[in-house]
Amino acid sequence: MSIAENLAAVDEQILRYAERAGRARDSVNLIAVAKTKPQDAVIEALQAGQMIFGENRVQESQGKYPDLRADWPDLELHLIGPLQTNKTKDALALFDVIHTVDRPKLVRSIAKEAQTVGRCPKLLVQVNTGEEDQKAGVLPSEVEALVQLMRDENLPLAGLMCIPPVEDAPAGHFAFLKRLADDLGLPFASMGMSGDYQTAVELGATHVRVGSAIFGVRPPLSH
Ligand SMILES: *Cc1c(COP(=O)(O)O)cnc(C)c1O
Repeated sequence: MSIAENLAAVDEQILRYAERAGRARDSVNLIAVAKTKPQDAVIEALQAGQMIFGENRVQESQGKYPDLRADWPDLELHLIGPLQTNKTKDALALFDVIHTVDRPKLVRSIAKEAQTVGRCPKLLVQVNTGEEDQKAGVLPSEVEALVQLMRDENLPLAGLMCIPPVEDAPAGHFAFLKRLADDLGLPFASMGMSGDYQTAVELGATHVRVGSAIFGVRPPLSH
């Protein structure tokens, strides 16, 4: 299957599960996750009408996207991988949305660099809903404090994001994240990947992050 055919199939699934939940199709944003894939794959998706892309790494994105924006001004780029503070400035210049804000130090770095760069992407707080030791994200008990810090800094906070533990059924995590976002008055819930985006759509995801179902499998050890 081509990238265009894969996109159409994913889109059809989103429509079906949105309808099941009584949601409008356009309340769900499909982020095509192109990490590790060449720029040609991104161009193929753009030609099929896909405008929203996700990447894990700042440096990889710098090589792939800047020259595409001239031809596709509606292109929207989302950072969905961890952000180190030494890359904050580059990330603010390149991305439209950052899904992985997860610590006070990063919030302060973003607030400072946003002044210098003169722009700030929309921001999501990554929540470690499974409370896993090795996983990025703030613990659920710490979300409110981080949200408050971002509001104090006048940052454009838009929502929450999660990656459920691989061994868990995702539905409980998605329902939890959606409820938490609603409670905090945040419009975006970024949840669901190739294996579980239908469930996420049913449970209220506003952004699903789909990679391999669109671009094919990635080599192991990349992420
Ligand atoms: C890689 C990645 C995805 C996409 O994963 P697929 O299983 O290929 O759809 C989504 N979200 C994050 C945070 C990722 O790192």
